[in-house]
Amino acid sequence: MARQDRPSDQLYIRSRKGIWGRFAKLFIRCRLPWLWLALYVFLEFGTLNLGLSETDYTAQLFAGDTSAGLVFRLVAVLIINALASHMKVFVRELVSARSTRSMRTVLFDKVLHLPMTYFQDENPRDAVYRIVQNAKVIDNTLIFFVVPIVMALYKSANIFVRIFRYDWRLSAILIAFIPLQLLMAFLFGRINYAVNERETAIRSRLTERLAELVTNIPLAKAFAREDREEAVGADLTERLYKVSIRGSWLDQLKDLTQTGINLVQAVIMVLVGTSLLRNGEINTRGWVTFYLFSSLFTGAIYELIMYWNNVKTIQGSAEKVADIMEAPSENEEGDPCPALSGDIVLSEVAFSYHEEAPVLTGVSCTFPDNAVTALLGASGSGKTTLVNLLLRLYEPEGGAITAGGSDISRFALAEYRKHFAMVSQNAMFFTGTVRENVCYGQTDVAGERLEKALRGAGAWEFVQALPQGVDTELTEYGQNLSGGQRQRLAVARALLSDAHYLILDEPVAAMDAIATAELVEILRKAAEGRCLIVIAHTKAVLPLCSRAVILSEGRVEAEGSLDEVQKASAFMQAFAGEEAVHE
Ligand code: ADP
Repeated sequence: MARQDRPSDQLYIRSRKGIWGRFAKLFIRCRLPWLWLALYVFLEFGTLNLGLSETDYTAQLFAGDTSAGLVFRLVAVLIINALASHMKVFVRELVSARSTRSMRTVLFDKVLHLPMTYFQDENPRDAVYRIVQNAKVIDNTLIFFVVPIVMALYKSANIFVRIFRYDWRLSAILIAFIPLQLLMAFLFGRINYAVNERETAIRSRLTERLAELVTNIPLAKAFAREDREEAVGADLTERLYKVSIRGSWLDQLKDLTQTGINLVQAVIMVLVGTSLLRNGEINTRGWVTFYLFSSLFTGAIYELIMYWNNVKTIQGSAEKVADIMEAPSENEEGDPCPALSGDIVLSEVAFSYHEEAPVLTGVSCTFPDNAVTALLGASGSGKTTLVNLLLRLYEPEGGAITAGGSDISRFALAEYRKHFAMVSQNAMFFTGTVRENVCYGQTDVAGERLEKALRGAGAWEFVQALPQGVDTELTEYGQNLSGGQRQRLAVARALLSDAHYLILDEPVAAMDAIATAELVEILRKAAEGRCLIVIAHTKAVLPLCSRAVILSEGRVEAEGSLDEVQKASAFMQAFAGEEAVHE
């Protein structure tokens, strides 16, 4: 499926029924700065009315009234209006920043509590974009839609009543132009929207491609594919250029058409107005006032249409945000989780990511306490999936999992997960110091405890040799460390968490033979009094394990001591090769 045809992109274009109801819920859920908003609306009304009075006084002045009272009123209105306008801009920025902050906080929180199933079919960059960009939806709705439309309606109605009082014939000319303006704004609005959509799509593809390229730059270099990447980048940049130029032309054409309409309208008004004036049907003051207000009226109608054109973009982002907010969160409720220990037992566990492709079909096995069990199986046999179920990142579709005799599904999620620590094959790090990454989430870790964990993971020496020791900054994903060093830090993080159940995914990946032997020794110590599950992709880690569970096509092929398993499983025989695996 082409990138632009994916359903999430279509959301932008398709307007779904009931979006305003869903959107209203968003407004209620995120705490809006109501007081500031009220002040902003008050200032909008205030400056609008002052502006109208200003036009009124100016018209009187131009019509020959030079009384001190009028001049004083005009100057006072000019000063107050200028001050209030500045204040209005400040308050508007504040409302905008505060509402975006609250929406972002709510969205961030929501994303963290979404189940893994949500991310399965989601492009992670899309989720990021939603939080960063679409979070402005509330702000955009208030500042660029609701408030301005109410203002423009009020302004046009107010002006219309005034000018109608002066002369109904001239007012009728103004009204006659409204359908033309509406049609023009509608047409341009549609085209503009399509161009903007295209621009946004190309820009996000360019950003996506760049982000991927920066992460995979060694790949591009190693395969000498710089030329190809350059061509892809140049193509996207060219398309972005063309679409933005098209947008500029469109803006020009729109302004030109608007100016043309205004010009025709003004000429007709001047001709009719001067003839009425000559015939004595209106006086000079009436004519000047009318003329000044008529341009305000045209402007107000134009604003009304322009702001209305924002509705589709707002609907697009509102739907995206509402989609996230309405997605069911992880079920975090449950019984308090006591200090968990004891065997982990799986009985007839079944699971699939997608209905049509079952991954685990009736897995029954035991991971005994105080033991290290290897979890083995061909690639794609379901090892990671099984671990995901233990961590309750997904819920099984059938069967049960118990830890120390208790069904794990009954415990409150966050409390339950605290008893587990995971060292994944590609150890994960955030930008931050070694200390922040190893202590991840624990704020009051004493220096000695941290040192003990680092020593325990065999990481102390190399961390000490870093420029700022434990306070050395890690770059994104810990790229400034070697694979083996990252692995050790991940082990230190697991040790520091004091979790009873440790899950290690090929913990000696990226390590040489000596480092592997060292880490196996370290893990042997860490295993004392714990339950360790080691996903092994190479036999290097087998000396650590006393038992093994072999998965094959979503079922357990063999389970038991390494010797037993080697006898029973063809996979194990191939995996362990000729050598004895259990010394
Ligand atoms: P292993 O860890 O043994 O290599 P996995 O548990 O990662 O196997 O994968 C088991 C099967 O589940 C594979 O067929 C894989 O394609 C599929 N799978 C894994 N993760 C996902 C996912 N997030 N969405 C859909 N299918 C998945």
